[in-house]
Amino acid sequence: MHKSIFYLLLFFLAGCYPKPETGQVKQPVNTAPEPVVVKKNPLNVILMIGDGMGLTQISAGMYSNGNKLHLERFKAIGLHKSYSGDNLVTDSASGATAFSAGLKTYNGAIGVDMDTLPHQTILEMAEERGYRTGMVATSTIVHATPASFIAHQPLRKMYEEIAADFLKTEIDFFVGGGKKFFDRRETDERNLYEELENKGYFVSDYFKKDLNEINPNPDGLNFAYFTSDVDPLPVLQGRDYLNDASKKACEFLSKRSKNKETGFFLMIEGSQIDWGGHANNSDYIISEMIDFDETIGSILDFAEADGNTLVIVTADHETGGYAINPGSKMDSLVTGFTTDYHTATLIPVFAYGPTAELYMGIYENTAIFDKMKKSLEF
Ligand code: MG
Ligand code: ZN
Repeated sequence: MHKSIFYLLLFFLAGCYPKPETGQVKQPVNTAPEPVVVKKNPLNVILMIGDGMGLTQISAGMYSNGNKLHLERFKAIGLHKSYSGDNLVTDSASGATAFSAGLKTYNGAIGVDMDTLPHQTILEMAEERGYRTGMVATSTIVHATPASFIAHQPLRKMYEEIAADFLKTEIDFFVGGGKKFFDRRETDERNLYEELENKGYFVSDYFKKDLNEINPNPDGLNFAYFTSDVDPLPVLQGRDYLNDASKKACEFLSKRSKNKETGFFLMIEGSQIDWGGHANNSDYIISEMIDFDETIGSILDFAEADGNTLVIVTADHETGGYAINPGSKMDSLVTGFTTDYHTATLIPVFAYGPTAELYMGIYENTAIFDKMKKSLEF
């Protein structure tokens, strides 16, 4: 087709396209050409991982929460294929390394490939480019999911080695459990709690002071807070810091980023949805799911007000082969499980903010790394 005819046709079609009835007074016809919309990239990326959060976990959380979740506020939705480099059923180490470093690697790998070679993570790339970085988790901070963003170790159980890897970075803000892997180590004499302080961190913990009594100062030191000695409690036993810590992280990192060309990268994990699945305990799953969703709500509020923040919510895999069975009612579910381990079902991805449309479709879990790089123009 001749170019001019093509444009003529385009012009004609655009004019014929039915406009929605607004019921308002007709505006004068604007003959000026539409401004060219430049698709902007986000300044900040917040990646939220609900460990073990498959569609049934989301559904059960929603039905048990008055048929409502903040997740419903997302418009750009996709699915990822969660299998790992050596198993159709991934674990959380391999699952998180797919997001953090774009690798299909073996189960148990922390930020390393099939040959145990380290690969730079999105958090490290952000840091290298002058971005602020942060992590918040409801497991220990050295557990597989957060570890895969900051550490490079051949096995996920190498908690003390993973803790030592934190000292090789300049991460601005982190909150999670696992104090003992920093200050009462068995593999060496180091006290990483003190090393962090000497390196320029304000460090505190559950034993010293409650997190909600602390206001991290973005103009001051980096911030580290330990919520427990080993694993943090489940929500059902009183844990309540995820939402508060995540809001504090956003405030801290965005204030630090002010007047700079660069933004921040923040990873937030709802770690224990997975543990409810392993325990085949529906109440455990649902309470953790709702806790994670409340945090999603706060993060979306931040992103909406900020306008320069991309929020991605996904899971590494599903846990439990969880199902909502016949006989269920909205507020009393009859649930079942096929396993006390993970499954290989497709996993949903939700995105909000600049470049959110990149996350629509069906793709490999490793594509989330590639897409985040594209969003941030790394
Ligand atoms: Mg995890
Ligand atoms: Zn698991």
